[in-house]
Amino acid sequence: MERRNIRQIKTSYIPRRRKKTFKRYQVMFLTFLITLISVFAIVQLIHFLKSPIYDNGFIPAPYGTNVSEKVKKAEETEIPEWIDVQLIHKHSTARTGFRLADIDNIVIHYVGNPGSTAQNNRDYFDKSSTEVSSHFVVGLDGEIIQCVPIYEKSAASNERNRDSISIEVCHKDETGKFNEKTYSSLVKLVSWLCNEFSLDESQIIRHYDITGKECPKYYVENEDEWEKFKSDVEEMLDE
Ligand SMILES: [Zn+2]
Repeated sequence: MERRNIRQIKTSYIPRRRKKTFKRYQVMFLTFLITLISVFAIVQLIHFLKSPIYDNGFIPAPYGTNVSEKVKKAEETEIPEWIDVQLIHKHSTARTGFRLADIDNIVIHYVGNPGSTAQNNRDYFDKSSTEVSSHFVVGLDGEIIQCVPIYEKSAASNERNRDSISIEVCHKDETGKFNEKTYSSLVKLVSWLCNEFSLDESQIIRHYDITGKECPKYYVENEDEWEKFKSDVEEMLDE
């Protein structure tokens, strides 16, 4: 009886001790983890406070990430006078202020709202409830409005918002075809961007090429016209 009692005490004691030891490791691990996270947070905070966010109006890339040369260039690029700069205010996902990771593509869209002007679309992006935007809108009279800085993310091209410049294009009817004035302004704008950021014809893509969405409608339905557009840009690049 005595022996049995001792054994019972021992066996009930061992697991408790083990449990205690395990807890100590848990605490040590948690302390280590919290220290690590705190150091990381402090480094990021210092980097953020030191950045020229208040002057330039953009949120810097996190400390430790490589900022693309093209994005650095975009920060210093002067916007030509034929572009009407009307930046939208920072709000929701339309303009987060986050910097682009890179500039790998130019993505063409159509607004999908026949007869609307570039100004209408820009003002829509600026609404606090709107969650979409593009860097540029090309209008029915060939006017070009810039809505988001070219070194910041816009919200038009899904997973490619991070490394592309987006252009929304106005159209007069449901076919989505761009009129002559709109078309030639678009060619001019895309050529300028290609020149500035050393992009070639293959880097001009449609929203369709990213998600399969029928955008820009006319240039998804008419593949030849899309090819023609790219060759018109290329021709202007050669000039
Ligand atoms: Zn689109």
